[in-house]
Amino acid sequence: AAARVVVIGGGFGGASCARALKQIDPKLQVTLVEPNKTFTACPFSNNVIAGLRSIEEQQFGYDKIAAGGVTVVAQAATGVDNAARTVTLADGTSLGYDRLVLSPGVDLRFDVLQGYDEAAAAKMPHAWKAGEQTLLLRKQLEAMDDGGVVVISAPANPFRCPPGPYERACLIAHYLKTKKPRSKLLILDAKDTFSKQRLFQNAWKELYPGMVEWVSLSQGGKVNAVDPATNTLITDFGNHTAKVANVIPPQRAGRIATSAGATDNTGWCAIDPVTFESKSAPNIHVIGDACLAGAMPKSAFSANSQAKVCAAAIATLLSGGTPTAPKLINTCYSLAAPGYGISVAGVYQPKNGVLADVEGAGGVSPADVPREFRAREADYAQSWFATITAEVFG
Ligand code: FAD
Repeated sequence: AAARVVVIGGGFGGASCARALKQIDPKLQVTLVEPNKTFTACPFSNNVIAGLRSIEEQQFGYDKIAAGGVTVVAQAATGVDNAARTVTLADGTSLGYDRLVLSPGVDLRFDVLQGYDEAAAAKMPHAWKAGEQTLLLRKQLEAMDDGGVVVISAPANPFRCPPGPYERACLIAHYLKTKKPRSKLLILDAKDTFSKQRLFQNAWKELYPGMVEWVSLSQGGKVNAVDPATNTLITDFGNHTAKVANVIPPQRAGRIATSAGATDNTGWCAIDPVTFESKSAPNIHVIGDACLAGAMPKSAFSANSQAKVCAAAIATLLSGGTPTAPKLINTCYSLAAPGYGISVAGVYQPKNGVLADVEGAGGVSPADVPREFRAREADYAQSWFATITAEVFG
């Protein structure tokens, strides 16, 4: 009989992997398990928060994936029995597999910042999963009076989308500058350095002078607790009360990965960098945000790159072969304002058991360039989103 591969999670990693498996070997029985009928993408969701884009432009369905021969099951996976090689679904049915792929993305941790639980997120949105939370943050910004203080709390590494909080700061500042110019934006950070730091800091100075303030870990930026009743964020150095509070909490691999025995004590999944097979659960591969991919950042671009490598490795393993060492790429674009893009790119390969940077490859956008250069990168960002979503869902 044809080999069976079950993929859990129909986001950037999982949907890409299901499609790639079917393209590499049409005989494989590929099942994609995803409870949502519509996927809402995070990349470009900061534009929705800033009022520059509609949420509908972020949404994609699974019809084309199904038309390509992947069986799409609209259920959540509730458990994995790797000894029996079965996945249990929310409706009580189960699916057998020869190889299992997990791409469940992240779970937000509601057990780290004191007071920040799911109920608090309805008051102080994270907007780190796109959809209702994105719209909630947008509504709060629209409702805020001119002169209010917006606070973004950014987590320590590792987390989904390292440049994301800083792009968000830029685009919220753009909204404030154009609509509520007496307002301020404060970033409280649990880190001392961040992705594309110099480029972001230059953009704040150039585009939003006096509006954006970044407080690093050493300066007392780490939020330890929140009080949703008063919209207060609490650090060792004092309290900050916000008109709008965007709390991005620490994260871990989506919980199905723990049920599958694939997470370690960090809450993430250690993997073999050639095949993405779990180090603790044989036959189970983990891709995307849920895995510890060494130097690769947790991005949609990375998830898609990993998905294709993982699909090829699985097809090779199922036919009795030995997968060869891959090279993977990532590029993360960020917008500092409409028409002002910056990027960071990298190339990665297995080295000493992890995915390491290929020395001398990649890099960030140059610091001192004319605005046309930034405009061109903003166009590349748009093209990237159109291309990746067409490849994954179109
Ligand atoms: P996801 O895309 O989140 O997919 C996970 C899927 O698994 C979800 O659909 C979920 O419903 C499903 N799932 C979870 N548990 C189960 C279960 N038990 N059973 C069945 N299904 C399950 N990346 C970029 O490359 N470029 C960007 O510009 C960019 N911008 C971003 C901006 C923001 C504000 C944020 C928050 C993120 C951004 N990212 C960006 C990061 C990107 O969104 C993630 O890295 C990417 O979505 C990871 O893909 P994934 O497959 O791991 O997870």
